[in-house]
Amino acid sequence: ILKGKVAVVTGSTSGIGLAYARAFAGAGANVVLNGMGARADVENERSAIEREFGVKAAYSAADMASPDQIAELIALAESTFGSVDVLVNNAGVQHVAPVEEFPVDKWNAIIGINLSSAFHAIRAAVPRMKKRGWGRIITTASAHSIVASPFKSAYVAAKHGIVGLTKTVALELARSKITCNCISPGYVWTPLVEKQIPNTMVARNMRRDEVISEVLLAAQPTKEFVTVEQVASLALFLCSQDAAQITGANLSVDGGWTAA
Ligand code: NAD
Repeated sequence: ILKGKVAVVTGSTSGIGLAYARAFAGAGANVVLNGMGARADVENERSAIEREFGVKAAYSAADMASPDQIAELIALAESTFGSVDVLVNNAGVQHVAPVEEFPVDKWNAIIGINLSSAFHAIRAAVPRMKKRGWGRIITTASAHSIVASPFKSAYVAAKHGIVGLTKTVALELARSKITCNCISPGYVWTPLVEKQIPNTMVARNMRRDEVISEVLLAAQPTKEFVTVEQVASLALFLCSQDAAQITGANLSVDGGWTAA
């Protein structure tokens, strides 16, 4: 469904972002990867996408904290592949601390990378989408765009902000055949999550299955992790013609977390 289209996915060197990029490539899109990581690892992922899916994949190390570099990322996609048809704002970082101790630089970094970067990327991509008369903008929000958890003031504020940005852009583009939505995953199984398990087992004197269901999945009623492929499948659906009337939505994939 994306043959001949170009997808830019920020924060796609690992986790959910990489799964989006692979799903879009599997549907025929040329993709632009972005994010941190060792050059050799990134090059492995990039070349694997080209080999497995028979598309072109480019990489940009643009820092999502920098408005100029975000504009360069969108310009690179345009100059390399001729357009930006799908933009996924996915780069994200976290910091956990009580609000009165929350480091100001961490607050600024999280608002910059998790919220403002989406504004800058959308701002740069929309004129190009309008010119071509088609576009899909998707941002990875979070269950924390709907509910809060203590000690995550910046993350929760940024993710709630994404919902407002998404709704506003959707209204502005409603007559332009460009949809703008966000996806709100609950706890997703990524290497980052997996790595927390051994330490938590020791710290809480729990078995692996107890850590998973009572600590990690405490808020997730299904007691199962979301997979990165499940999140990516929803993003791919949002790119289809069947999803043309879904815009301004915040779609949960959270095992019932926000139903509680
Ligand atoms: P991850 O750490 O595997 O991926 C984050 C990506 O963002 C990486 O590619 C990283 O290099 C990139 N990144 C970080 N800072 C960047 C910067 N300054 N410039 C460019 N790239 C940068 O984590 P993930 O779980 O795949 O997270 C992806 C998104 O999903 C984030 O927005 C996160 O908030 C959201 N999310 C994750 C979960 C979960 O349980 N894992 C749940 C809800 C929402």
